[in-house]
Amino acid sequence: MEAVQESGTVKVADRVKALKSKGIDVISFSIGEPDFPTPAHIVEAGVDALRAGFTKYTPSSGIPELRQAIAEKLNNENGIEADQSEIIVTPTKHAIFMTIMALVDRGEEVIMADPSWVSYEPIVRIADAVPVPVRADEETAFRLNPEHLAEKITNRTRMIIINSPNNPTGSVARKQEIEAICDIAKERDILLLSDEIYEHIIYDTRNYSPASFPGMKGHVITVNGFSKTYSMTGWRLGYLHADRGLLEGIQKVQTHSITCATSFSQKAGVAALKGPREPVQRMVSEFRKRRDLTLKKLREIPGIDIVAPDGAFYAFPRYDFDISSEKMAEYLLDEAHVAVTPGSSFGSFGEKHFRISFATSVENLETGLDSIKDALAKL
Ligand code: GLU
Repeated sequence: MEAVQESGTVKVADRVKALKSKGIDVISFSIGEPDFPTPAHIVEAGVDALRAGFTKYTPSSGIPELRQAIAEKLNNENGIEADQSEIIVTPTKHAIFMTIMALVDRGEEVIMADPSWVSYEPIVRIADAVPVPVRADEETAFRLNPEHLAEKITNRTRMIIINSPNNPTGSVARKQEIEAICDIAKERDILLLSDEIYEHIIYDTRNYSPASFPGMKGHVITVNGFSKTYSMTGWRLGYLHADRGLLEGIQKVQTHSITCATSFSQKAGVAALKGPREPVQRMVSEFRKRRDLTLKKLREIPGIDIVAPDGAFYAFPRYDFDISSEKMAEYLLDEAHVAVTPGSSFGSFGEKHFRISFATSVENLETGLDSIKDALAKL
C-alpha cells in the first residue's frame, strides 16, 4: 500500500468539505459530481422501495428486474448483445476494482492513457500488477493513440483501460481509434476494460462501445453506472457487463466484498432506466452551456491553454507557470478560494494542468474563473 497514492479527487473534495464546515467560503471545481438533484421519479422509486420493506439482501448480482433493464439498455443504446445473466450490479468504482482484482495477476501489465482517472493506476497497484501509462496529452488531443498504445504491448500485457469520454480531459475516442484498439486486443488476446460512465454527457460527437464491435464480446468488460447520467452519486449504483467466462471470478469478489448492491438503490436504478429521458437531456444541455462558458473564460486567461472537451464535465487546462500542479492547486485554494484537482493526480502527463469540474452553477463558474484569473495574474 505504500506505493499507492490516496485519491486526488476525493482528497480535495474532503478538504473543501472541511473548509466549508468551518464557514470558509470556497468555490469547488473539484469532485466530478452533478449539482442537480436526483430526478424526482427516481427518488420516489427508492423511497417506495424503502417503505415497502425492500431493505434486505438482494441476489448477489442484482435484482432480475434491474439486470434485465440494463441488458435492454446495452442492446438498444450501445449495440452490445447483452443477456441479463452477463450483468453484475455493483457500485461503479467497485466494478472497476473487482474486475482488476479478479482478472489481472501479479506482475501482469495494464495499459491506460496518461492522463486518466485517478483510481485506475492505484487499483492496478493494489492488485500487485504493473500500470503502463501511454502519453495522451495535447499532442493527440488527449486521445489514446492506437499506435502509441501498440508500442507498449509486451507478452505480459493483460488489459487495456479505455475511458471515453475521458476523465479528466473530456476527450472522446473516434470510431476508427476504438476499432484499431479492438483489433490489437483480438490479435494479442488482451482484455479491454471500457469505462463508459460519461457516455451520455457528450457534446459534439458520439461514443462507441468496444463490446459492440464484431468478435469483441469475449474481450471486453463494459463498466457503467448511474452516478453521472442520473445525478445519483450517493446511491452508489453501477454495473458491469462481460462474457460469463470472465464474470465468474468477478462474481466471487462481489460475494466476498459487498455481497450485493444496496437494495433500494437498485429499485431506483430500474426507474432511472425505464423512466423519462427528459431530465437527462436537460442536465446535458445545461452542462453544454457551462462547458462553453468555462472555455470562453479560460481562453481569456493569459498563461492558460485549453483543448475543448467533447464530453464529460471537466476542463483540463495547461498552464504556463513554473510551479507544480500540487502547488498550483494549493495556491488557487489559498489565493482564489477555488478548489481544483491537481493535474498530477491523473498521471505524469497531467503535470502543469489542473482539472476543473464544471458540474456546478453558472454563477460559481463566473466567480470562480474570475478569481482564478486574478490569482494567476499575480504569479
Ligand atoms: N469520478 C469522480 C471524479 O473524478 C468522483 C470521484 C472519484 O471517484 O474519483 O471526480
